[in-house]
Amino acid sequence: MTITGRCYCGTIKYEISAEPETAFQCHCRECQYITGGNPNIVMVFPKEAFSYTSAAASTFSRADLETPVTRHFCSNCGTGIGTESPARPHAMIVKVGTLDDPSTFEAKAAIFTCDMQPYHTLPEGVPSFDKRPPKK
Ligand SMILES: [Zn+2]
Ligand SMILES: [Zn+2]
Repeated sequence: MTITGRCYCGTIKYEISAEPETAFQCHCRECQYITGGNPNIVMVFPKEAFSYTSAAASTFSRADLETPVTRHFCSNCGTGIGTESPARPHAMIVKVGTLDDPSTFEAKAAIFTCDMQPYHTLPEGVPSFDKRPPKK
């Protein structure tokens, strides 16, 4: 099956040829900037299954951090598409809001609840972690 998605203006389009490896919501302070305040709702895919079917998105990494994530975004409308993280080197972490069908999201975990705001809510019946889940 193929999962497809795009940015708000449609300049950036992508497809994914794999099922999500996992899905979670991240409450970290950094994600709050990117989402506008709410937790970041993401699905994790193998990097090789993700490809742009338009021009590739623009990318941004903070130069002042030792191991920054690389954020993919549309430079026309500003939509954040996803993130490559040193913590998951083989993954493309896709923002669920850019999927053509965002309804398929089911949280498997909530992470970085250390930064949770009083107006954030946790999904019922899934584990939550102060930071990242312990490595298996
Ligand atoms: Zn756009
Ligand atoms: Zn985060």
